[in-house]
This record gives sequence, structure tokens and C-alpha cells, in this order.
Amino acid sequence: MTQQGKLYVVGFGPGDFKHITTRAVEALQDSDFIIGYKTYVELIQDLITNETSVISTGMTEEVSRAQEAVRQAEAGKKVAVISSGDAGVYGMAGLVYEVLIEKGWTEANGVPVEIIPGISAINSCGSLLGAPIMHDSCTISLSDHLTPWNLIAKRVEAAAMADFVIALYNPRSGRRTRQIVEAQRILLQYRSPDTPVGLVKSAYRERQHIIITNLEEMLEHDIGMLTTVIIGNSSTFLYDNKMITPRGYQRKYTLNTDKQALKPHQRLREEAEPWAMDQNTGVQRLESSVAVADRVKNVQQVETIKQEPPKVSSYEMAMKALERVSSEDLKTTQYVHQDFEEIFELAVSPGVANKKFTPEQMMTLAMVVGEKGTMEYTPNHQIVLKIPTSNPNSITKKLQGVGFLLSPVGDVLTLKACDFCDGEKTAGIPYAEEIQEKLGGMDLPKELQIGFNGCGMACYKAVTEDIGIIHRKGKFDLFLGAKPVGRTAHPGQAVAEGIEPDDIVEVITNIIKEYKENAHPNERLFKYFKRVKQIQGFVYKDIAPKINIEPAPCGD
Ligand code: SAH
Repeated sequence: MTQQGKLYVVGFGPGDFKHITTRAVEALQDSDFIIGYKTYVELIQDLITNETSVISTGMTEEVSRAQEAVRQAEAGKKVAVISSGDAGVYGMAGLVYEVLIEKGWTEANGVPVEIIPGISAINSCGSLLGAPIMHDSCTISLSDHLTPWNLIAKRVEAAAMADFVIALYNPRSGRRTRQIVEAQRILLQYRSPDTPVGLVKSAYRERQHIIITNLEEMLEHDIGMLTTVIIGNSSTFLYDNKMITPRGYQRKYTLNTDKQALKPHQRLREEAEPWAMDQNTGVQRLESSVAVADRVKNVQQVETIKQEPPKVSSYEMAMKALERVSSEDLKTTQYVHQDFEEIFELAVSPGVANKKFTPEQMMTLAMVVGEKGTMEYTPNHQIVLKIPTSNPNSITKKLQGVGFLLSPVGDVLTLKACDFCDGEKTAGIPYAEEIQEKLGGMDLPKELQIGFNGCGMACYKAVTEDIGIIHRKGKFDLFLGAKPVGRTAHPGQAVAEGIEPDDIVEVITNIIKEYKENAHPNERLFKYFKRVKQIQGFVYKDIAPKINIEPAPCGD
């Protein structure tokens, strides 16, 4: 009895043996023939233990490769047709089926066919770059051998417009050098020049080479036949030389700092997803402010037209239209990310010493927070605002316009001054303001409050803050190491008395600098002080009362 033939179509992954599937290895070992492009056959040769005939052909002989494979399988042989990556992604799988279909093959009557999946370049290259794929992505081959260039260009544009992460396969060869240049030009119409781009050559092979660059500079690097180009979406960012695309779009940001992803527990709440489809109406709950603004503009235009029909000639109208099309406004590229609202988080207060709000300030607050935002009164002498917006600058401008002091929120330095007896004890104020100016809002390993009080009464409780500064008799007393919260809270230690006014800002700056550079992430100042025993020459004394009290973290 003749053995029944079989056709395996095998994707062997990026090229090293660790990233090939077990089923792919089984198929290769079970086959009488292995058919593939020379370079690929060489890559997997060492995996074949039995006496297998190998038919390797040139790059361009794909059709004859598929025909030969079908012929051998129909003659009763087991045949593996190999592709790099996944055989179903610009590989041999489709071609094998086309040849079979031409011969009238069906599953019921023809030779058995098994397509074995492999790790495609988008995945292998993605893994070497960090986590660039993560969100909706697509692959586009820039090879116009079998596809008209204008269709490829259209796809690049559509993907750019729709904010897909894009993996460009076959980006460039000896003869096809213009395609990648044109693709970059199209992408730059929709994405910022500093969009992260990864170039991975020969992933998981001997000559592997990885470059992280950006959309503007990507062509300054070597891109060839063995390169996959991965273009980030509007949210992709770089961290420690890795390309990372967050899972979602909603991001928080605060003053002076980069955008931060929502913390895992903040996701999936309704208020964090203002753009989701409403399950009752089938429409998006909230439109982006850009979309709303556009609609308002249109409505206004329609209304203007209704009220006063234009009394202009068609020539004038045509000239006007031309003017609009060529105006600077329209020329500025509208990057995709401008369409998304992100949560802008910041804290406001009337001033360092000033504790009084004006009616104008309250009205401005209400206006900028609007229906969608929140404002929260906090223990830090600040009101924290959370406002979904695509234009944070207009918010900060309005708030600063009415004299608010703005600060970022999170693990930053906050200065909590007293009201200096309603402005009567003014001597300390300039120093408080200088410290605020110099250090306020600075990113730190953990939140840190400086309490600054204008006299020895210290009625705003400076000694219970991370750093306490008390102005007394023209000089300053310094307290360090308070544990401001918790059931084991305690005040700080008086580490110095009578610091000269000329020195105080520098002393505080140096303490902060040391803490920022040396503390562990999340290590509050009192813990750092206890651990290192000395900050800037101020020595730690173990004065905290020794009581055994069970720790009770937040919520317990
Ligand atoms: N079937 C393959 C793709 C074949 S098209 C797959 O699924 O990965 C050939 C293109 O794939 C190359 O031009 C390159 O862009 C990409 N490619 C394949 N293997 C690669 C590797 N190991 N490293 C980087 N790019 C690779």
C-alpha cells in the first residue's frame, strides 16, 4: 500500500530554535521533503534528524516551490513547505492553497493539509523592542511586486489616520528604496515627528540589530530586506530605551511631568472611559472636545448663513474658499492624539501665605472644572482638580490669570505655609516663597510636605510635616523626620535652631537633593532619615515612642 501524502505548511518563527513550535519541529521531522527558500532551509537544517530530502529554491521561485510540494504530496510523500515567521503572513500558505485550488483540491478528496502557525515578525520584533504592539495594530508590506503602489500608499495613510501601530514588512530592498521614504512622508502627515519607531533587523538570528529612533529620523539608519519597521501610535512612549504602547488612551497628566498611564485600579471605571459606547443608545457617551468644537463651529456657520444670506459674488466666494484652504490653520498638522481627552490633574491654592479665595477665583474654578471635572478639597491646603480635556494649557492659563498658585499632584514636593497671622508677621514670607519657587512641585521618591510657619506658635503644625521650618526671632528652626500620618504618627526632631536667613533656602535645597538622589522609590523622608541616620550632617535620634501597635495600612 502506498503511504498517504501530506502537506505541512510550516512557519518556523524568527529563526532560532527556541522560538519554533514543537508542532513545527514534529512536522519537519515527519517529512520526506522540505521545500523552501535556500536561506531558510539552512536556518532549520540542524533540526532535521532523519533522512529528509531538501529542496531549496531561490527567493523568486515561490510558485514552483508550491507546485513541487503539491506534486510530491499527491505522489504520496510527506512534504513540509517552510516560511519564516508565520506561513500565513506574506508566506507560503496562501500560495499552496492557490495551487491546490487550481487542481480542484478539496479537503474531502485531496491530500491532507496542515498549516502550522509560527511567530511572525511583528511579534518577534515587537518583543525585542519592549511592548510596542499592545493596542490595535496592522502589518503592511511595502513590497509592490504583487500589489499596486497606490493601494499600499492608501493603506499606509488609512492606518496612519486611524492611529494603528504599524509593522512595515519588506520595507526596503536593493531595488525598492523609495517606498519607505514615501511611507514616512505619509505617516508624518498624521503623526508627530517624535513618534517612537523601532527598526529590528534579523530578529533572533545571528546578525540581530535593534535601533530605537523616531518617525523623523528613522531613515538615517540602515533599513533593508531583513528589517521590520515598527511605528508607534500616538500614545507609544519610550522608557529605558524600550518602546511601550499603553493598553488604552485615557491618561492622566499633571503639571511639569510626562503623561502617566492610569493606575491599573483606575481603569475600567465609567468615568475613565468617557468615550465608550453607551449600551442603551449605541452612541459614544461623550464626544471629544475637538469633535464638539467642530460641531459647534458648523452649527454657528449654518446659523450665520441662515440669518444673513451672503451678498457676495461667486468669484469672491471662490477666493475666500481658496484663502481658507491655504490658511495656516489648515496647514498645521492635526495629529491623531489631539482628538483624545485625557484627565488633567493639578492642585490649586490662592498662594503660599494667602489663604483667601476671591469670588473671581471661585467662579473661574467652577468654569474650568465644568460638568465633567471634579474638585476636591485636600489636607494639603490645596484643591485638587481632575478635568478631562484635550487642551490643558488653556486651563492653566485661565487659572493663572486669576492669581492661583498651581502645583502638580502625586509624589511631589508641596509647601504648606501658615497665613503669617493674616499677613501681619511678614518676615518669613519671602523665604517661603523662594522655597516654593525653587522646589515646589518637584518630583520625588514619595510625596513630601514642607511645613513653613511664621512664628514659634507654629499653629499650622509645621513640626508634624516631613520637613518643618519655623521662623523665630529672625532666624529659622528646622525639624526633620516627622511621620505625618498613620497610628504611629509622630512629630519631627528639632535638628537645628537659629539657622541664618541667608542659609535656609540652601539647607533645604540640599536636604531635598540628597533625598531625591538616594531614597528608594516610595521611601518617605522619615524612613530615609531613619535608614541613613544622617542627612546633610543632621543626625537622627531614635526618639519615636516605642509602642507596639499593629500597622494598619490604608483601608484597614
Ligand atoms: N512570514 C514572515 C514574513 C515574510 S515577508 C513572517 O510572518 O514574519 C519578509 C519580511 O518579514 C522581511 O522583509 C522583514 O520585514 C520581515 N521579517 C521576517 N523575519 C524577520 C526577522 N527575523 N527579523 C526582522 N524582520 C523579519
